[in-house]
Amino acid sequence: MNDDTIFALATPKGRAGVAVIRISGKNSFNTLQALCGVKNLEPRKATIKTIKNPTTGDKLDKGLIIYFKAPASFTGEDVAELQIHGGRAVTMAVLEALTKISGLRQAEAGEFTRRAFENNKLDLTEVEGLADLINAETEEQRKQALRQMEGSLGKLYESWRKKLVKSLAYLEAEIDFPEDELPQEITENIQSQIDSLINEISEHLNDSHRGERLRDGFHVAVIGLPNAGKSTLCNKLVKRDIAIVSKHEGTTRDVVEAYLDLGGYPVIIADTAGLRECSEEIESEGVKRAFARAENADLVIVLIDGTKNIENQVKKAVGKNRMYVVNKIDLHQQDSDFTIEGKKPIYISAKADKGIGALLESLTITIVEKMSCSTPALTRIRHRTMLTECVDYLKNYKNEYDIELAAENVRLASKSLGRITGKIEVEELLDVVFADFCIGK
Ligand code: GDP
Repeated sequence: MNDDTIFALATPKGRAGVAVIRISGKNSFNTLQALCGVKNLEPRKATIKTIKNPTTGDKLDKGLIIYFKAPASFTGEDVAELQIHGGRAVTMAVLEALTKISGLRQAEAGEFTRRAFENNKLDLTEVEGLADLINAETEEQRKQALRQMEGSLGKLYESWRKKLVKSLAYLEAEIDFPEDELPQEITENIQSQIDSLINEISEHLNDSHRGERLRDGFHVAVIGLPNAGKSTLCNKLVKRDIAIVSKHEGTTRDVVEAYLDLGGYPVIIADTAGLRECSEEIESEGVKRAFARAENADLVIVLIDGTKNIENQVKKAVGKNRMYVVNKIDLHQQDSDFTIEGKKPIYISAKADKGIGALLESLTITIVEKMSCSTPALTRIRHRTMLTECVDYLKNYKNEYDIELAAENVRLASKSLGRITGKIEVEELLDVVFADFCIGK
């Protein structure tokens, strides 16, 4: 497959000042020759050239061309980049001309990055970091993706795998040459190495899913009695109308979601149906969903109608992580000594726009506390599965008396780590990982 030279538009389709077309493979330089008539080009130096259709000789555009000689390129192959004017007709004409050059074909989704992986330019965690960077929508998502793309996770997992491979080498020596018993200190060393790896990996796994949450969003559910003001509050929080505000009870029958950026973290806020018992079928389904959403949310805002009995409303609250907010302070006197579960609630009036700033501040502090992390965070369920498997094999190793079976567990543990970065047996994983990319990446 890699005999083909591939090309694709690397910038989005549509009108823009500049469009970039990427070409990768052994015909990259010939293609520049055919399009621009260049004889030789200094690699990595931008040159302005007229681009012509090699079949008809028609002028197509004038643009910058850059040549990257293998292996010093994104894919590790010879690469050419055309920076042309970003009009629809210009890009179409240049792409059309490329299809007519023999040995060239349109790239498939993710193919440039796949070649970079196959040429050891990126490991799988770096590929995933790159995909996340392209999709990042908030500051913290961008930072996490960039760290991962630069190898923070890959290096960590690879260092653990190398330690296991070393232990395995000693164990195999012991199996192959049982008469030359390993010195006591080496055997002890293997034990302590594996013990410390079990601890280190378990600690990394026990991170409250910070990295995964940062990729997928921190889920906040707003619950409360019908008419407590949930929809009004959600609308204020997202500064646009996402939910229907009405005086009639039970208008939010389903869960309505909106997306917020708080302190650089992505937050998905869900307005739920009022928590009450009801006979109407559709609404009771909504109430069921509200309960389910609250149980699974990372944080629940329990919105209390301050004009009604507060204790009864607190009793109905669900969810592990709760923030109590008392609404409608425009209609009732607030009691500054009042506490719920030992903490003062936050007082607001969603309708009169009072206290919303303080609520947002408090939400941001909670979210930053739960999501920020100084060490590289695990970002995907794929990593979690492999790391858990690795720890299980290492625990099996410790419980195994037969040295050959014990060594087999260390081998399997190191393979689980290798699968995360793509060091071994990765074919079946590749399609999953590269499916996240679009053409031209
Ligand atoms: P939900 O059923 O909990 O989603 O409640 P809504 O947001 O639909 O609000 C129900 C009613 O309460 C509407 O008439 C709102 O205008 C009103 N409401 C919401 N918040 C406040 C508030 O802070 N003060 C007052 N006076 N009314 C409010």
